[in-house]
Amino acid sequence: MSWEENIRRVEPYVAGEQPGQPGVIKLNTNECPYPPSPAVANAVKQLEISDLRLYPDMNAKKLVDALADYYHVKAEQVFVGVGSDDVLALSFMTFFNGNQPILFPDITYSFYDVWADVFRIPFRQCPLDENFRIKKEDFFLSNGGIIIPNPNAPTGVLEQTALFEDIIKANPDSVVIIDEAYIDFGGESMVPFVDQYDNLMVVQTFSKSRAMAGMRIGFAIANEKMIRCLKDVKFSFNSYTMNMPSILAGTAAVLDDAYFKQTIGKVIKTREWTKEQLKRLGFALTDSKSNFLFVTHKRVPAKDIFLALKENNIYVRYWNKPRIDNYLRITIGTDEQMQVLVDFLENYLA
Ligand SMILES: *Cc1c(COP(=O)(O)O)cnc(C)c1O
Repeated sequence: MSWEENIRRVEPYVAGEQPGQPGVIKLNTNECPYPPSPAVANAVKQLEISDLRLYPDMNAKKLVDALADYYHVKAEQVFVGVGSDDVLALSFMTFFNGNQPILFPDITYSFYDVWADVFRIPFRQCPLDENFRIKKEDFFLSNGGIIIPNPNAPTGVLEQTALFEDIIKANPDSVVIIDEAYIDFGGESMVPFVDQYDNLMVVQTFSKSRAMAGMRIGFAIANEKMIRCLKDVKFSFNSYTMNMPSILAGTAAVLDDAYFKQTIGKVIKTREWTKEQLKRLGFALTDSKSNFLFVTHKRVPAKDIFLALKENNIYVRYWNKPRIDNYLRITIGTDEQMQVLVDFLENYLA
């Protein structure tokens, strides 16, 4: 008998690299190239160091109220966590306890199968069609829950709310989670549908559109009962995960809507410009509605381009996985960064 027999063995999620050296153009983890609202810095400065002797508000009421106000829902319909990864992991634990497999697309956020494994949840991956679109009929099979990102990652492909309504209506006995990490970059959110469908939960994050990946803030919006169940599990695990600076910074970010919209506008404009440039250079790409592009070159293998970029201090993301091993995911940076990328590719591909 060895203690090693009793280990929960898992294959962990692999995040994009965080290179240490200076001068890197970092387009590999979908961070925002612009800083958060100046209101965020002010809010954090107002925190007295002596306040840190106290536990934070475990309900993060300030932040929850700001989000409830912003999204026109009740505070009881909002749950906040340490990044949406925290919110999603707790949601898997809370809602996906049936015997049937949970369903998600075959090409999607690569944390879903990791959480399924760590929580011992059976799962089935539903293949996207050849244009990386969701085949909704695949999600009409009997299941123990559904999770789909919209726009999807790493494809950037946006689906319409009607498709999700069909999936939600076909699954009254399953919780359907829509992971809207990138919805602010041009998609229509499912948040307005949470009162209509009691099996719908929408999850969003401050890491991309709100430029605060380092603060670790994510949230879920659903009906009151689902949020209560999520809190019960959270408070059975670790009640005080949202720290004081996060609560203050997150609240300030939500209140500065003008800055938020301005930042998103800049990213979208740069995205559309970059799409045109990459097409000109012989890339085929999805019509991404996120803050990244998913591209393949007609002649040169993605892996070669990935390595050449890296050698020149431009980091993008590449996966050696079925169906997507000839694609690159490129985060939208500033105009200047994208110009450097385009100039390099223009030379490299010539
Ligand atoms: C980035 C991302 C998340 C998680 O982001 P957090 O930083 O943990 O909030 C969740 N889902 C998808 C699809 C993402 O791309």
